[in-house]
Amino acid sequence: MSDFLIVGAGFAGLVAAERLASAGWKCTVIDRRTHIAGNAYDATDSAGVLTHRYGPHYFRTNSGKVRQYLSRFTDWHPVKYTIKSHTGGQYWPFPINLNTFETLIGKPATPGEFETWLARNRHDIPNPKNSEEVILSQVGTELYERFFMGYTLKQWRRHPRELDASVCGRIPIRTNRDDRYLTESFQALPAKGYTALFENLLAATPNLTLRLGIDFPEAKATIPHRHLIFTGAIDEYYNRRFGPLPYRSLRFEPESFTKEQLLAREKISGKPGFWQPAMQVNYPDADVPHTRIVEIKHATGQQIDATTIVREYPKDWTPDDEPYYPVPAPDARAACKKYAALAAAEPHTTFIGRLATYRYYNMDQVTAMALTAAGKLLKSHGTP
Ligand code: FAD
Ligand code: UDP
Repeated sequence: MSDFLIVGAGFAGLVAAERLASAGWKCTVIDRRTHIAGNAYDATDSAGVLTHRYGPHYFRTNSGKVRQYLSRFTDWHPVKYTIKSHTGGQYWPFPINLNTFETLIGKPATPGEFETWLARNRHDIPNPKNSEEVILSQVGTELYERFFMGYTLKQWRRHPRELDASVCGRIPIRTNRDDRYLTESFQALPAKGYTALFENLLAATPNLTLRLGIDFPEAKATIPHRHLIFTGAIDEYYNRRFGPLPYRSLRFEPESFTKEQLLAREKISGKPGFWQPAMQVNYPDADVPHTRIVEIKHATGQQIDATTIVREYPKDWTPDDEPYYPVPAPDARAACKKYAALAAAEPHTTFIGRLATYRYYNMDQVTAMALTAAGKLLKSHGTP
């Protein structure tokens, strides 16, 4: 008998399991995949490159508590996450900053000149309600159409108007030369990767059994337990009785290059041993089918001659796909409400994580959610 059965060996499941098991409760974590770390899973590919198998995962947080907690299981490799946008046949500095403005006007400029230009171009929208308004209100039509509209249409197959303001609003826009993609105070990757972080967590935790390659229905039937923690998709848990929730999925296309093949790319990447000039290049143009190309070696700092790039192609979700993104939009949230009401009424099941709460959450937010949920369970269950 397990005290807790935890479905999902990603951030949500393993963090909650560690807290409960360390307090003495018997926990079993299961995952239908054959590996740990959920979507943050990383592994060495056939070219020897450490790659993020479900898209790039850039750890960042403003939370001292989350950082402190995870630091028990990993050292950190600080990273300045820098990216570029490729549109109209050229690379652009991105996110939008003074260097982007100089590229646009074709000559040097001051922050004051860029601010004056923005004041003339931005739309007067005091309380932006969606992703179109949030960008128009900051930079106006020209930069919105160049960098955001096409990318968002491809990524979500929805108009930016039909997405929460927080979706495009999370991309910083600056009038200085700060070109970091992210805004959080702590930006770093686990020094040996996410999988290694969770291997350390498992090794440090007593009372925790891990079973991989097993789906929830089988686990539910065969692993007796007192309380369930579910981190999979909430509509799947309820057999989609109110219909499927919308998700966006992705297809990842990796391509590896040897040292010799990379020689011809040096003019473009500007750096021996690399294929492109930044860790991530975004492709907003409608005639390019992928949204971004990621060359994670820029971020991991791995010392290796070869490199691997991964092209990302967004796609509609079907039950055969991974539901990578809940859709951050009012209609999708409304559709989730019926499921959330059922979940709230379950006395012996806790729903946490990106899919179970249907929220476009980053890893640090999910970690914080798991710590809070485990804290509440420890309060209500006490210690064994
Ligand atoms: P998951 O990591 O999805 O783990 C859930 C696990 O549950 C999965 O392993 C799944 O196999 C398992 N599972 C589900 N249903 C069942 C079932 N019925 N039976 C058995 N097992 C089941 N966050 C960042 O902070 N920075 C980033 O740069 C970043 N980039 C991202 C890029 C992409 C392409 C994606 C998709 C996400 C990105 N994220 C990023 C978000 C990050 O992946 C999530 O915040 C985090 O992985 C959520 O953890 P989780 O445990 O809730 O879910
Ligand atoms: N976005 C965009 N152009 C870009 C980068 C991002 O329009 O060059 C929008 C797009 O809608 C995207 C959202 O901003 O989904 C958030 O981007 P982020 O890079 O944070 O997405 P994630 O890594 O979560 O896929």
